[in-house]
Amino acid sequence: MTGDKKAPIRPLAPGSVIGIFGGGQLGRMIALAAARLGYVCHIFASEADCPAAQVATHATIASYEDRDALRTFAAAVDVATCEFENIPVESVRLVAEQIPVRPDWKVLEVAQDRVQEKTFFNTIGLETAPWRRVVGQGNLARAISELGRPSILKTARFGYDGKGQVRIDDDAHLGHAWHHISGTGGGVGVLEAFVDFAQEVSVIVARGIDGAWSAFDPTENTHANHVLQSARVPARVPVFLTAAAVDAGHRAAEALDLVGLLAVEMFVTRDGRLLMNEMAPRPHNSGHWTLDACLTDQFEQCVRAICGLPLGSPERHADATMTNLLGDDVVRWLDILGDPSARLHLYGKKETRPGRKMGHVTRLVPRSVATSP
Ligand code: AMP
Repeated sequence: MTGDKKAPIRPLAPGSVIGIFGGGQLGRMIALAAARLGYVCHIFASEADCPAAQVATHATIASYEDRDALRTFAAAVDVATCEFENIPVESVRLVAEQIPVRPDWKVLEVAQDRVQEKTFFNTIGLETAPWRRVVGQGNLARAISELGRPSILKTARFGYDGKGQVRIDDDAHLGHAWHHISGTGGGVGVLEAFVDFAQEVSVIVARGIDGAWSAFDPTENTHANHVLQSARVPARVPVFLTAAAVDAGHRAAEALDLVGLLAVEMFVTRDGRLLMNEMAPRPHNSGHWTLDACLTDQFEQCVRAICGLPLGSPERHADATMTNLLGDDVVRWLDILGDPSARLHLYGKKETRPGRKMGHVTRLVPRSVATSP
């Protein structure tokens, strides 16, 4: 699925330097894609020997609030992007005074805050689960009386992979629940009605400087303990819903005037509606299968978008299931390498911790015609 272009833009030539905020596996895979197209990457991260820095030419290891380091970094790169969205907006703004940062810091600001994010979805006519902004325990009790139980209390800011979330069941202690989330999010939370969803899906849209856009096939995702376990394409949802998911992703990217990638996670309700859950203006874990099953993968598409290159074809040539290797799952690396249908991706993390994303494996089978969107 692709869209029309506006005016031509002068692309950033291979050999230019791409700055990446964040040192995780997403930055690593952006850097690998960039290297294949002849670009040089410079990572800005807070930890040395991080997955991204291991494969990039340059790295600045400093606090994300170190203004001198940020200015020096900006002077050394031609364009910058973020591989995770919890970089302080002020730091990104500082760098954006010197060089283009794509997507723009304003997009980051919306994606960092669940209140802004849900307001944004609703404002452009995309449905979410019913939600309330919560600013204290008393406020929480009122929101629960409006949305009912079960419901889910989430920190408005700095939550990821289920951190800063608590389910409010009949026996939930509101004081404990509020205490659990209030520390991480600066005292603001979001209460969401619990969605008894049929499936979870996500869509990743790329949009260029010229407004051209493309989308990867929507993915069906399985989470456990709020963390992505596996993602499969094609998603087992009706064709009209895959089209609606792409349309929602595209509308969000347009409304944000986004340059880069936007991943939108959604719930499919049992009566066939899509409810937006959250978005991330970067490559996404649920799109890792594109590395092995598409003509252009999400990381290359990100590089193309932020460098002003033509977007590549997102066409999928195989059905795929991507499984995260969390914590000790990674000890199976040798067995996985022995499986001819599997492609192994390891992130170079030295320390294995329970639940930590250590790598992923994608298994391909020939593309099924009937179920594809
Ligand atoms: P999030 O951090 O918002 O992406 O949530 C992580 C995961 O928790 C989601 O992918 C769902 O599996 C689950 N979850 C989050 N919000 C809800 C909700 N309102 N209703 C049911 N499950 C949810």
